[in-house]
Amino acid sequence: MAQQNFEFLELSRKAPKERWAPERVEDFNEIQGNYSANEAKLQASRCLDCGTPYCQFKCPVQNYIPQWLSLVEEGRILEAATLSHQTNSLPEICGRVCPQDRLCEGSCTLDEDFGAVSIGAIEKYITDTALAMGWKPEIADIAKTGKKVAIIGAGPAGLACADILTQHGITAVVYDKHPEIGGLLSFGIPSFKLEKDVVVKRRKILEYMGVEFKLNTEVGKDISFDVLYQQYDAVFIAVGCYKNMRANIPGEHLKGVYQALDYLINNNHKQMGLIDKAAHHDFYFKRVLVLGGGDTAMDCARTAVRQQASSVYCAYRRNEASMPGSKREVYKAKEEGVKFLWHYQPLEIIGSEQVEAVRFARTKIVVDALTQRNILEIDERDEVIIPADAVVIAFGFQPHEINWLDRYNIQTDEYGRIQTNIAINDHGESKTKNVSEANAVNGATEAIEAKKQKRFAFQTHNDKIFAGGDITRGSDLVVTAIFEGRSAARGIISYLSE
Ligand code: FAD
Ligand code: SF4
Repeated sequence: MAQQNFEFLELSRKAPKERWAPERVEDFNEIQGNYSANEAKLQASRCLDCGTPYCQFKCPVQNYIPQWLSLVEEGRILEAATLSHQTNSLPEICGRVCPQDRLCEGSCTLDEDFGAVSIGAIEKYITDTALAMGWKPEIADIAKTGKKVAIIGAGPAGLACADILTQHGITAVVYDKHPEIGGLLSFGIPSFKLEKDVVVKRRKILEYMGVEFKLNTEVGKDISFDVLYQQYDAVFIAVGCYKNMRANIPGEHLKGVYQALDYLINNNHKQMGLIDKAAHHDFYFKRVLVLGGGDTAMDCARTAVRQQASSVYCAYRRNEASMPGSKREVYKAKEEGVKFLWHYQPLEIIGSEQVEAVRFARTKIVVDALTQRNILEIDERDEVIIPADAVVIAFGFQPHEINWLDRYNIQTDEYGRIQTNIAINDHGESKTKNVSEANAVNGATEAIEAKKQKRFAFQTHNDKIFAGGDITRGSDLVVTAIFEGRSAARGIISYLSE
């Protein structure tokens, strides 16, 4: 019988040391420190090996968490890295940016009473350490198939797809309009959460494996989709979600009002030396108001703090408990000096040319007499005006318009998300046929044809074209984009083997 581990009774959870808030707001460097080899071993030894790995079930890529924790405990880091890469294409990145409290760590058996095993930090430690030791993926046995797939978008979905295709001998050529790979990893997520040289190291690994990158190349502008469709055996679309949700209130056009993603991309460009001072949205000594309560709002507020804004307020229309993002991020924002305005609904951005203030109505949660459910009530008589020199709107994103989809019968839903076959079996074949079912509603003949047709994971209505990541599920997470990229690659492999 396997021996149960009771280390957790003696040893409490200890995350790697974080930089002290007053020091970390002075720069854009990562705030999370690293484990020493001994700390990593001790923390990994806290895994109870409970027999039912809820952590693994909850992880979207189903990482072999207890197994790699055990290898770390034994100091076998290179083997842990190899195992970790079997399920995850970007483990060092997930270790840094996954909302672990909602995923693996939130379902660790020890979480409630003893403190979850620090799974994310150990995942980061494994790959960071292995790469520093010279670890590289094994590529000697890969036999080239002669097939070529074009991938549009070098974000996590595109990179994960390229990783799996390359491991199966298929040449992956990744097109991206940006000058560096990573998508939102490089240009959206601030470097205090994920330093950009981490992504550069990953590019070098993928290039070593044989992935080809065509950067500074926008499909639809620098090269047409038609060319890719003709020249490749299949195409994977992983272009993300880039349409900002607007506030739809007067004054949104004023100077000094920014959309969250534009602001963050601009700041990351500055950090990466891609733009000069004149083009930088700099909030130095400004009174900043961020509208919204999700993780992107926190990223904007914490970026403004680092730009030495004179004050940073974040206004959200509900209470703190209802905030959609990670509690950890809100806590960190508070530590760094962000002030919160709960129950503030923006009504108007005030100013003649330049923003001067925002007018809010206060809100309260009341019980709906009919449904007995909590609803938000706006009290227009209780108004507040908050002065501001800069306003950032962080209300989320939707898929942007892509003008070549229709020509290729790539269908989207009412939100603009590309429709694909989602569920898959081990061979990358689709078990559910949501695309076929969508066809079926158009008529019985089509339904019969659809049934005859074999569908593959993440295949669009056009057999040769696959899609995944934010463009299929809407703005979500790095790890779910990785899952979709890997699953789509399996779908493409099966499709090309037919
Ligand atoms: P993206 O990462 O958006 O990549 C798409 C790529 O396609 C981009 O590089 C784009 O340039 C390229 N592209 C688009 N159109 C074309 C074209 N026509 N030709 C060539 N290239 C094109 N998730 C987390 O898990 N943790 C976090 O902490 C976190 N923080 C976030 C912070 C912000 C500010 C934002 C906006 C998102 C955050 N997310 C986070 C979500 C996460 O970043 C995304 O879910 C994930 O990056 C989606 O991956 P993707 O590959 O689908 O798309
Ligand atoms: Fe946890 Fe994310 Fe790593 Fe999975 S990929 S183990 S959810 S940190």
